[in-house]
Amino acid sequence: MQKQFVILLAAVSLWMVFSTGASSETQVSTGKYIQIMKPNTKVYENGQTIGYLREGEIFQYQWEEQQQYAIQYENYVAYVNRSNVRVTTTVPLEVVPKSASTQDIRTRKATNLLDKYGRTIVTASADRRFPVYGTTDTQYKVLVGNRVLYVDKTAVQVDKGIPILMYHHILRDAENTNYRNVSTTISDRQFISQMDYLKSRGYETISMADLEQYVKGTRLLSAKTVAITFDDGLKSNVLYAYPKLKELGYRATMFHITSRMLDTPQMFDPARLQFISKPEVDATRDVFDYHGHTHAKHNILEGNISELLVISHMELKDDFYQAQQLLPQQYFAYPFGQYDSVTIQVLQEMGYKAAVTSKTGYVSRNSNVYELPRIGIRPTTTITKFASYFQ
Ligand SMILES: [Zn+2]
Repeated sequence: MQKQFVILLAAVSLWMVFSTGASSETQVSTGKYIQIMKPNTKVYENGQTIGYLREGEIFQYQWEEQQQYAIQYENYVAYVNRSNVRVTTTVPLEVVPKSASTQDIRTRKATNLLDKYGRTIVTASADRRFPVYGTTDTQYKVLVGNRVLYVDKTAVQVDKGIPILMYHHILRDAENTNYRNVSTTISDRQFISQMDYLKSRGYETISMADLEQYVKGTRLLSAKTVAITFDDGLKSNVLYAYPKLKELGYRATMFHITSRMLDTPQMFDPARLQFISKPEVDATRDVFDYHGHTHAKHNILEGNISELLVISHMELKDDFYQAQQLLPQQYFAYPFGQYDSVTIQVLQEMGYKAAVTSKTGYVSRNSNVYELPRIGIRPTTTITKFASYFQ
C-alpha cells in the first residue's frame, strides 16, 4: 500500500515538472536538489564517466543511494558521488513542458551544455545521446538533472538510432558452390572486415537485454554501440563468426531453431546447411546469447506465407513452449520477418521481452520492443556500404 502511494507521488511530481508552464520555461521550487561542490564533478553510469558537472551548479536528483545520487541524464539517469555534492533546498530551476519531439542528438566529441546565459554547466562526453526537448534557431535544448541546457546545433549531430545487424550464413568463397546468389550468405572475409571496421571505429556490442532496457528508458547506451544478430543457428557461424567475435571481445545474439539443434555436432559440409548442436551451444556461450526463432515452425508455405501466421494460437504457444524447454530464451526473431498482432500477443503471453523483425531501420527510444528493425547484411554489402550504416 505504502509503495503504491510513493509511486503515485512520484508520478504526480513528474507530471508537475512536465506540465508546469505550458508555453514557456518557468521556475519551480519543488523537488530535491543537490549542489556540486567540487570542480569538474564526474557523472557516470555503468562504471564509465559520461560527463562533468560544473562546481556550484544545482540539479534536481531522482533518488539517493549509499554512495551516490541519481540525476536525470540522457534518456534515463546517471550518478554523482555523494562526496562531491551537498543537498540544498528550494532552488529555482528552469524546466520545459513535456515535448512531443522524438528526436535525439549525439555528441561527436566532449561537448559543452550551456545555460541560457551561455555558461558551461555540463560537459558531456563524446558519443552520448540526448533526447531533444526543444530547439531555438541555433541550439537544441536538452535536460540534465531536470535543468534546461542548450547546445549549439553545429556541435552535435542528429542521432539515427542503434543499428541491429542481421546475418545468416557465412562461407569461404572457395567452398561456396551452392549459395553463390543467395542474399543471406556472405563470405568470411566480408564478415571479418566488417567486424574490424566496427572495432577500429570504437564500437562496442550490446545484448538484446541492453536494447530492451534502452527502449524502455531504463538504460543509457553510448552512441558507439551496435547489436549483432544471426538468424537460424547455422554451424557456419560457429566456424567463421565465433572466432572473430571472440578475438575482438564482441558478443552477438543467435536466434536458433531448436528442432534443428541436435545432441551431437554435425559434420561441416559447405554444400548443405548444418545447425549448431547442443554441445556447440554450450561451448560458444562466451560469445553468443541464444534466443528464439521457433521450435519447428520456421517454414514458408505456398504464397510465401510464414507457417507462424496460419497455425492456431494454441499451436503457436505450444511451439514457443517447446523452444523454451530446450533453450531458455527471452527474445525472438520472426522467421522470414513475418508476424501479426497474434504473434506479438503470444510472445508476450510466453514471457518474451522483445522481438526483432526484418524491416530496415535503427532502434530508437520510440521503437516498439516487439517490432525492432534491423539492417540486413548481404553479399552485395561492400565495406563502403557497411560504413554508411554508421555515419
Ligand atoms: Zn530464419
